Amino acid sequence: MTKDYYKILDIPEFSSTEEIKSAYRNLARKWHPDVAGNSPDVIQKFKEINEAYEILSDRIRKADYDTARRFYSYAKDNHSKNSGKCDSETKKNEEKSFNFNWSDFFSRPNRNFEDKPSRKGDDIYSDIDISVFEALSGTTKIINMLQTQVCSKCRGKKFINGTKCPYCGGKGETSVYKRFNVKIPAGIKDKSKIRLAEEGEKGVNGGKNGDLYLIVHVREPKSYKTEGLNILKTIAISPHEAVLGGNITVSTIRGNVSLKIAPNTRNGQKIRLAGCGIEQNKKIGDMIVTIEIQIPRNLTAAEINLYKKLQEVSGLNIRERIE
Ligand SMILES: [Zn+2]
Repeated sequence: MTKDYYKILDIPEFSSTEEIKSAYRNLARKWHPDVAGNSPDVIQKFKEINEAYEILSDRIRKADYDTARRFYSYAKDNHSKNSGKCDSETKKNEEKSFNFNWSDFFSRPNRNFEDKPSRKGDDIYSDIDISVFEALSGTTKIINMLQTQVCSKCRGKKFINGTKCPYCGGKGETSVYKRFNVKIPAGIKDKSKIRLAEEGEKGVNGGKNGDLYLIVHVREPKSYKTEGLNILKTIAISPHEAVLGGNITVSTIRGNVSLKIAPNTRNGQKIRLAGCGIEQNKKIGDMIVTIEIQIPRNLTAAEINLYKKLQEVSGLNIRERIE
């Protein structure tokens, strides 16, 4: 395993902690299986991003990794420089000698963390989208977060009876999805943070875990507006529905509702659907529908003929009638 964690996070080697964090956040958001889908490729990519961040965000592990990486690229440079001259036998030997494993490097038994100070794990920030209705009424969201856990087989010791733990590959930890039921309180504001204590990055050398912060984004649906607990929605009706009246179906947050259009309904007329608004603290708002008379596009020849007929029989001038 010779992964280039800088390449994975798409950052130069001498990036600052902030730059590493920001690159990680952007990629983690983009490749989160909740967003990018649950295909094995996506999960692999997401794991790689997390692994890269895990190493590069940890001062001690990053220093180790940088040393190993420099050694590895030095070895590779030398290899490519010589390869023109080498016969296949020496080339093979070289490959063998430089084909070391990062996890072996990190799990060298003589490395001793015991005397290192403990440190709290980093906080993780993740985004969560809710609708404005959910924000007002409160809701529960299920989210899945990839978390690093101490390997249950070797209990983080990396070796079992002197051989590398097959379950975690000698890393001492495994990545698993943890499912959270996140309760979002009624009346939450856009960009509020919800803190899940100690669900962030693992603590170092016995330190406490970091926290997981969910940043709540309240999205206003395109077809609705809200005004307090009331929901405002514009509904299109055709000219003949406006003249003759009829029943139309309106979708509300409480399901479909049949709405009676009275004969001679005006453009811009408002109709109140009581109790179809947002519920909060045992109060419930209404839905206020604004009628918009729309001329249908792509009228058929038959319809145009009927309009012509209407023009002939309609004796009164509309501009005289509006006084
Ligand atoms: Zn293990």
